[in-house]
Amino acid sequence: MFYDFIKIPAVVKTGNHILGEIDDLLCSSHLYFPKKILITQENLYNLYKDSLDGNDFFMKIFVQGGNVSEAPEIIEKCKETDAILIAFGGGSVIDIVKYCANKIDKPYVCIPSTLSNDAVYSSVARLTCNGKKTSFGVQPPVGIIVDFDVIKKSPKILILAGVADLTSNLSALQDWLLSHRDTGEPINEIAFMLSKESVMPLFSYGEKDLLSDPFLFDLTNGLITSGLSMIVCGSTRVTSGAEHLISHAIDEYFPEKSTIHGLQVGWAHRILERRYRKGPYSEQVCDFFYRIGLDAAFKDKIPWNDGRDFDMLIPYARKIRNRYTVLNLID
Ligand SMILES: [Zn+2]
Repeated sequence: MFYDFIKIPAVVKTGNHILGEIDDLLCSSHLYFPKKILITQENLYNLYKDSLDGNDFFMKIFVQGGNVSEAPEIIEKCKETDAILIAFGGGSVIDIVKYCANKIDKPYVCIPSTLSNDAVYSSVARLTCNGKKTSFGVQPPVGIIVDFDVIKKSPKILILAGVADLTSNLSALQDWLLSHRDTGEPINEIAFMLSKESVMPLFSYGEKDLLSDPFLFDLTNGLITSGLSMIVCGSTRVTSGAEHLISHAIDEYFPEKSTIHGLQVGWAHRILERRYRKGPYSEQVCDFFYRIGLDAAFKDKIPWNDGRDFDMLIPYARKIRNRYTVLNLID
């Protein structure tokens, strides 16, 4: 009787051209719901109308995503219907659906239109609330369906951001070990192992592989395994360290200079490995970022320099939350 119980999705399905098979995929996983409500962005719906219309939706709700202000209207439309919510879109759509589903205690399925971060399977929704990015604790999805054909049509920069967000687990884990050493914070070794192993398969790929099925399979499953590590851990400690604090500091204190989450996280991670850690993965991570095209993406999208700008962000990052990281050791 002395076990931990965790919620894992009833269906995880990856493949090409599966967006039109949502009904069958749910049924074959014994997820029988009388009604399904699709929540997505109108432009995405129009882009994939032919495939999406192969499924039977009771209602379609179009959203912008990303802002908690949309929630009351979505909740009002969904709360009286015995339905499962289907979130189709990027992180901003998935996060607003997570938030609403949690408020009205409805199950939901995530169908990402890109893989730009770990939103696809996590128990945290990041939404703008009163002008500020805020994290909300939510229930994880009952299903995850990833159509590679859809992902391949998303901007390459977003896939790179997802790669960087996942790779940053290795930074978070070093911070966790550091805190264990310095403050006695306990380590959950199952969560630790899941987080670490979710990253490792990526290192065998280069930029030419970004849109290949094997790479997208490893990236998808890496993001799912990483999400599982958070659920096992019961916190984001296992996937979010100093590099996330830097990214959150940019979003919070310099929103006019903020950009895609995964790129900010990856940029900060690379600097931490180069300047502040001589960790077991420093060389591997920096080589991989160069090989996969992330160095070029940072150069293109990050408006901060690696030296003085980064150091200027450190005091802001320390204010984000009380989490012991390598930033605590920097004067
Ligand atoms: Zn992240």
